[in-house]
Amino acid sequence: MTIEPGDRAFIAASRTDHSVMSAALRAVLDLHEVVPAVAGLFTDHCRTCRTPYPCTTVTAVATALEGSAS
Ligand SMILES: [Zn+2]
Repeated sequence: MTIEPGDRAFIAASRTDHSVMSAALRAVLDLHEVVPAVAGLFTDHCRTCRTPYPCTTVTAVATALEGSAS
């Protein structure tokens, strides 16, 4: 395996880039936190989307993370 000059810049920035992307992902997930059901009147739902939890955003993030783990 040969490391090219462009690869060096990519590797050097990866730690910072990873932190920034992780913070962005946490911010998105914080917006889509679960609001628990109340006395059987509602089901658990997303605070932002106001749809049953997990909403499509949380599902998309979870699916992408599961895909990156394999
Ligand atoms: Zn949501």
